[in-house]
Amino acid sequence: MKTDYEKLEKELIYKRKNGFRTMAKKEIKEAFAFCEPYKSYLDASKTEREAVKASLALAIKAGFEEWDEKKTYKAGDKVYYVNRGKAIILVKFGKNSLDNGINFSIAHIDSPRLDLKPNPLYESENMAFFDTHYYGGIKKYQWVTLPLALHGTVVKTNGESVDITVGEDEKDPIFYITDLLPHLGADQMKKTLGEGISGESLNVLIGSMPVEDEKISNGVKLRAIQLMNEKYGITEADLMSAELTFVPAGNARDIGFDRSLIASYGHDDRVCAYPSLKAIFDCGDIDRTALVCLTDKEEIGSLGNTGLDSNYLFDFVEDLSVSAGVNPRGVFRNSRCVSADVNAAYDPAFPEVYEKNNSSYINCGLVVTKYTGARGKSGSSDASAEFMAEIRRAFDSRDVLWQMGELGKVDVGGGGTVAKYVAKFNIDVVDVGVPVLSMHAPVEAVSKLDVYSAYKGILAFFEELK
Ligand code: MN
Ligand code: MN
Repeated sequence: MKTDYEKLEKELIYKRKNGFRTMAKKEIKEAFAFCEPYKSYLDASKTEREAVKASLALAIKAGFEEWDEKKTYKAGDKVYYVNRGKAIILVKFGKNSLDNGINFSIAHIDSPRLDLKPNPLYESENMAFFDTHYYGGIKKYQWVTLPLALHGTVVKTNGESVDITVGEDEKDPIFYITDLLPHLGADQMKKTLGEGISGESLNVLIGSMPVEDEKISNGVKLRAIQLMNEKYGITEADLMSAELTFVPAGNARDIGFDRSLIASYGHDDRVCAYPSLKAIFDCGDIDRTALVCLTDKEEIGSLGNTGLDSNYLFDFVEDLSVSAGVNPRGVFRNSRCVSADVNAAYDPAFPEVYEKNNSSYINCGLVVTKYTGARGKSGSSDASAEFMAEIRRAFDSRDVLWQMGELGKVDVGGGGTVAKYVAKFNIDVVDVGVPVLSMHAPVEAVSKLDVYSAYKGILAFFEELK
């Protein structure tokens, strides 16, 4: 009998799928529609504090109530817990006892940006500046000559807290970092991209108009703080107890004639936070309890008491377990987690850093990253074959568009996520997320089909892993 090799190829060979070739028209339409509120979420969530507020508002609308350790909860109950305004945990209780394990989806809501130094304000040559210290991994040269917006919170010594956002409204002014003109830039242009703009030179121009008194030597600086004082009631010293940050000004926008992609600041990692939220809102009668944690500080190594290297999430789960009368260690041991974070999409402009077979591609769906780490998987938690099989089964049973991916070539790439901090508690964990073009640039790009696939995948994880 002659072998039908076409049939055999279909059965035996794996082929990555492009959603525009495989998804039904109706589903493509759903994916595009899903991304409209995602764009609004991005615009409202430029810092972790703003992301917590936006997420909490959505959660309350979806029927979540503040967690009360004195209450006992039953299947279908929905609670939230906010840690210091910078991280939020949402729980939907399943039918099974907690010691059957929890399905976690964890994403981070901090993004690379320019934070103000503690003594940020100075005047030089009749111009006033805010001096910054960048947060997270940035290519410094990308941040000059961009319209920047100021976001953050100032806490005065009397405890009063003032939220500040300037630069997002069309009528607002923006802020700006200068760069050298090419005519005088010959020496600068000889430097590497890493050296051309130094961290210390990321000084943001905030004004040039002095107060009307020539006796005042730093009149431009005084005018700047005078205006802030009139609007926000703050003094220069109040900037010492502040978290103010510069981010690119402006809203998320569609890319391309076909509008298939979205350009925005901070896709990493709101592009996984938002689908996680929608998945826990939309999941039906689940067996295992579902938990979404949107955490802070991932971009600087997850340290600090709002990052995942702190115990706040695990202590919360311990408290949940104790109030449900079960052993927390049993809960952890039987739990599974998707560490929902982005991966680098294959970029044809830079083929030298990617290995084609093991890269993720835009429009090919949610990317599963078995291990991250750099140079010999160092620093990675490396998901088990058993857990990978469960994930594959869950995604395939719901027709989720998904793919496998590593971050760059073996000796080139690498990066960390929160996965290892979860694995520490003996929880099965794997990285899943959305492929991003120009990750960590002031404006990043993602595909709408991939954002929607992240939602479908996390929903499948909550509903199918029993
Ligand atoms: Mn990330
Ligand atoms: Mn990142």
